[in-house]
Amino acid sequence: MPKLNFNHPDRLLPAEPGVRKIARNLYETVRDLPIISPHGHTDPEWFARNERFPDAVDLLIKPDHYVFRMLYSQGIPMESLGVPTADGTPVETDARKIWRTFADHYYLFAGTPSRIWMDHVFNSVLGLDEPLTPDTADAYFDHINDRLAAPEFRPRALFERFNIELLATTESPLDELEHHCAIRESGWNGRVITTYRPDPVVDPEFEGFADNVARFGELADEDTTTWQGYLAAHRERRAFFRQFGATATDHGHPSAATADLDRNACEALFAKALGERCSPQEAELFRAQMLTEMAAMSVEDGMVMQIHPGSFRNHNPNVFERFGRDKGADIPVQTEYVRALKPLLNRFGNEAGLEIILFTLDETSYSRELATLAGHYPCLRLGPPWWFHDSPEGMMRFREQVTETAGFCNTAGFNDDTRAFLSIPARHDVARRVDCAFLARMVAEHRIGRDEAEAIAVDLNYKLAKKAYKL
Ligand SMILES: [Zn+2]
Repeated sequence: MPKLNFNHPDRLLPAEPGVRKIARNLYETVRDLPIISPHGHTDPEWFARNERFPDAVDLLIKPDHYVFRMLYSQGIPMESLGVPTADGTPVETDARKIWRTFADHYYLFAGTPSRIWMDHVFNSVLGLDEPLTPDTADAYFDHINDRLAAPEFRPRALFERFNIELLATTESPLDELEHHCAIRESGWNGRVITTYRPDPVVDPEFEGFADNVARFGELADEDTTTWQGYLAAHRERRAFFRQFGATATDHGHPSAATADLDRNACEALFAKALGERCSPQEAELFRAQMLTEMAAMSVEDGMVMQIHPGSFRNHNPNVFERFGRDKGADIPVQTEYVRALKPLLNRFGNEAGLEIILFTLDETSYSRELATLAGHYPCLRLGPPWWFHDSPEGMMRFREQVTETAGFCNTAGFNDDTRAFLSIPARHDVARRVDCAFLARMVAEHRIGRDEAEAIAVDLNYKLAKKAYKL
């Protein structure tokens, strides 16, 4: 039996015994469904090479910005966690020492989703049955490394054990997809697909934008010094990504702004962007125009658009200079959708076959803007709670704020959006438990029947993701 409060079998289910019983029964019907992971950031090289994961630190700490942002916030230098520096200056390399630092501060994660994910990984995936504390740190480190050396802990074996039916990774158009190619040629039947994420060639403020666009032209064999050639390169690379299973594109813009400029204005703006002469407002306008161009291409080729706006990236310039991007220094900003999406929706909002999945880091937009938009426009779906809100509380707030207007079927199921491969089952499990808790309350209040709730639970945790991502 698990220790009290360590990966407890009833975790996250409602506290009231009658509702808990309904939720438990619902959870039983979805607990073992296959995992559909249509949006995430795992490394395709793991599945291409199928080599063992190096050690506990490399796998569980170094790639997880949730972990080191919390530790950093409490004054623990990222160097001491082995996070590599941009300029190659030395950082801690003793993995056992890094693991002890993590264990000493594991108490910081109480009440956060990281704690739930980690405990699930430790217990259900790695077979540890004591909580992680400073006293168990060494035993944990040795046990995990021992497990990682076993053949059943290679990436492909774990993929199969996790019952993953499909996993999408995310690549830049500058990626040649060699790992996806290797996966395909290996004959392994795990379904790993890519996603087209064009930010490096769509955002004039992205590091190295002009060089990126030049390289983009080479890869696509198009003249990307002209607006028409640049658009043709997108069509070409999107088709290339589709050969490796891509059904979706992904757009991580600072805002949800869209635009619908005439051709002359587009050409002039593109020339400025290439010359790196854009003001911040012009860079924003270019990104806005590109969302509408991407929608136009999606109408042609059927790829689903995902829009992930509202993150102020690299808020801490010292951390950015020393460690680069994705180091836990991205902070949400207020995000407006109703006016921002209007130029795109004016052109394509009623287009049959177009599908756009909207995400937010601004929960105040859920009931006012997102649920109402998705509850009207046939092309819009709502993505699951994202990033900081990918927590039991965030998931419950999402259901409470959008269901009344958008129902269940205008949502796109769950996606884990993670770099932390071992946590994928944990993240889906949290979503399944919270959805069952939400549905159980509706059953207890006689708003929906039990059979109906069971069918909805399967939709939310399996069918809607397949439908939304055209899988
Ligand atoms: Zn993502």
